[in-house]
Amino acid sequence: MTHALITGGAGFIGSHLAERLLAAGQQVTVIDNLSTGRFANIAPLEGQPGFRYAIEDIRNIHVMDRLVSECDVIYHLAAAVGVQKIVSQPIETIEVNIGGTEVVLQTARRYRKKVLIASTSEIYGKGVRFPFHEDDDSLLGPTTRSRWSYAASKAIDEFLALAYHKQVGLPVVIIRLFNTVGPRQTGQYGMVLPRFVQAALAGEPINVYGDGGQSRCFCNVRDVVAAMHALAETPAAVGQVFNVGSQEEVTILDLAERVRARAGSTSEIRFIPYDEAYEAGFEDFRRRVPSIDRIRALIGWQPVISLDETIDQIIAYYREELQHGGDQPQGTDIGAHPGRA
Ligand code: UDP
Repeated sequence: MTHALITGGAGFIGSHLAERLLAAGQQVTVIDNLSTGRFANIAPLEGQPGFRYAIEDIRNIHVMDRLVSECDVIYHLAAAVGVQKIVSQPIETIEVNIGGTEVVLQTARRYRKKVLIASTSEIYGKGVRFPFHEDDDSLLGPTTRSRWSYAASKAIDEFLALAYHKQVGLPVVIIRLFNTVGPRQTGQYGMVLPRFVQAALAGEPINVYGDGGQSRCFCNVRDVVAAMHALAETPAAVGQVFNVGSQEEVTILDLAERVRARAGSTSEIRFIPYDEAYEAGFEDFRRRVPSIDRIRALIGWQPVISLDETIDQIIAYYREELQHGGDQPQGTDIGAHPGRA
């Protein structure tokens, strides 16, 4: 039986991955320091055969040494995420993203374990050739703009993982995620879809940043974790980078209107200048579209869940949350407990 270690497993994507792997009969260990993850995301998995967790930072090398030695494959998802968080806490973004990945790769090397690294479409930066292909150039902004620290830190993670593959033959796979969305994603760190849904359900203004003409392709988390699972089980994926995302493009204004209509809301749609929403001089992307030719050719993957279906899932999730106390980070004191792994 395969034993998977998921770093950041109490996060939005990690908890969906844990659920999927358990359903496939795998053993799953989650390590998460609950910095942006929520214990509530994995609470329903507690007690399931084959599931265990440690509430711990991945930079704790003693804990990571033991957990990596016991698993077969590592899904490395732990990271500082969310544009708002990145802009307001750039030190943490850089230190966690680079330092955490260093520990994961060093430990994986010690025990020769396969590692899947969750990376990001931010790496393409201000690229102007659409769709983005994995081997395209990375066009980042200046170091004086905090936003780019995220892409730069993730680029170092990719370089480092590929270096371990090249120099010592470590089996690594890199997955660049494009705007993953779905139930359990929180709006606290800036992500647009949960924010729009929460505002629509509360009858509060839906805040569209800039003129709303910027576009994104949102991919349902269930499609994303299916891609991760399949790539982990495909030997030919080792040493490669894969875009994972949807090609259904939508402008942010259109998204706001769709959310409002599907939630049956009368919320006003309000335009907020970027400088006010983030910080002076903030740079946004006008478009971001993945090429998924590489992953499709290798494993036949493509998203199957539409954006409208995803919006409905998120609306249903937040309606349920509203009945049970809202979108609050849970268990901030849990870090003091030893965890169970
Ligand atoms: N956005 C918005 N209102 C919000 C949050 C985000 O209009 O409350 C915009 C944001 O400026 C960006 C898009 O929605 O153009 C997607 O933002 P998100 O942070 O979800 O993802 P990313 O910028 O990383 O694509």
